Amino acid sequence: MIRPASAVLATINEPDAVASLAPEEMTEFEGLIRRQLELIGEDPDREGLAKTPNRVAKALSWLTRGYELDPRAVIGDAVFEEDTENMVMVRDIELYSMCEHHMLPFFGRAHIAYIPNGKIVGLSKLPRVVEVFARRLQVQERLTEQIADAVQDVLDPRGVGVVIEAVHLCMMMRGVEKQSSKTITSSLRGVFRDDARTRSEFLRLAHHRSEGF
Ligand SMILES: [Zn+2]
Repeated sequence: MIRPASAVLATINEPDAVASLAPEEMTEFEGLIRRQLELIGEDPDREGLAKTPNRVAKALSWLTRGYELDPRAVIGDAVFEEDTENMVMVRDIELYSMCEHHMLPFFGRAHIAYIPNGKIVGLSKLPRVVEVFARRLQVQERLTEQIADAVQDVLDPRGVGVVIEAVHLCMMMRGVEKQSSKTITSSLRGVFRDDARTRSEFLRLAHHRSEGF
């Protein structure tokens, strides 16, 4: 398929854009998906599947585009001097990732909080930090740690707390088929780990059910 020049120039935010695959890599990728279809007993030449290898290759590239992203670059210059010692929290950040064991999606919400030590970050940047690490093959535990590490690294705050609650399709669709179990992970740094009051305030806010939004 020949893609128009405008599509080639599409940003990586567009679902159709391929992050960094060279044309020969794309061809190889499509060949592998085609073979995969054969191995599960499908006929890759039937009409409905004709463009599937191309679509899957593009989708997988997009869903794993976090490998090309760097948290410092994503935050950019959105770090500001600010004299506040109160907790800053962004709740309910939507999150979509893929488990590295089955390459099946897991998804849910992340809650991130920190206590500044002279620097704050533009609030819209925290969801972007989540994207950097969620758009890779992951385990939820490491994802949680990496987000906390990145906030710690860029802001050097007095403490960081990250909670992720997610459901895993590999648990829901196969094997144990636990349809409604949710996995909750947390990572606490600095005063969130060492100070019981800060920790309990954060965990109370993180687990509080939002109403009206
Ligand atoms: Zn899995």
